[in-house]
Amino acid sequence: MSQEIHLVHLYPVLMNIYGDTGNRLVLQRRMEWRGIKVRTTLVEVGDDIPKDADIILGGGAQDAVQSAVEADLQQKADILLKLAEDGVVMLMVCGMYQLFGRRFVTGEGREIKGIGILPLETHAGQTRFIGNTIYRTPWGEVAGYENHSGLTMLDDTAACLAQVVKGAGNNGQDGTEGCLQRSVFGTYSHGPILAKNPALADELIRRAIERKYGQAELQPLDDTLELRAAKAAMRRPR
Ligand code: GLN
Repeated sequence: MSQEIHLVHLYPVLMNIYGDTGNRLVLQRRMEWRGIKVRTTLVEVGDDIPKDADIILGGGAQDAVQSAVEADLQQKADILLKLAEDGVVMLMVCGMYQLFGRRFVTGEGREIKGIGILPLETHAGQTRFIGNTIYRTPWGEVAGYENHSGLTMLDDTAACLAQVVKGAGNNGQDGTEGCLQRSVFGTYSHGPILAKNPALADELIRRAIERKYGQAELQPLDDTLELRAAKAAMRRPR
């Protein structure tokens, strides 16, 4: 039986700093190489979230753009929450990661409402964290790149996605990076993160296939180039 995964990209035009769209392309290719069919829907302001989404992706952007999507995201909150509770796989990076928490308070003290799917909130800090990052995850070390001034505090640090090896992560203080609840992954890692971290990409695919088809056995791929790129990125100075 041929398998099909519906990839949904939330705000691909507005929220796409540092090429986070690459995450969509990586997932698409890694599935197609394995004979899994991929259907893609791009969701902008005013569009509906497809109810049969299997994987939902979101990227980063500046505070002003986060404000621009705020009202539309609130409209989508119920369906996103329902899908998250149903175990739909989501990957939210930086700006969208912050908006999946309860709120983001900007440097001017303005509150941008989030949708509270992730148990966290973010306040703009004095320092901007910029540079290459390494995080330890259950799927191995992940090479990324961060650029944010938001300080994200998890309600419980046990909900973090990863431990910081190099970089600031959630807040530069508690050694945590990102958040994972059910299959909703939040991270500060741009890169795009999935391009140099095939094990994490496959974890998202495996979860989506397992949820839809009951079990998943992913055919191994040749990741020589991806792993070489990750190694080179990890050697780079901050
Ligand atoms: N407003 C955010 C911050 O600077 C998000 C930045 C981003 O998505 N790169 O904290």
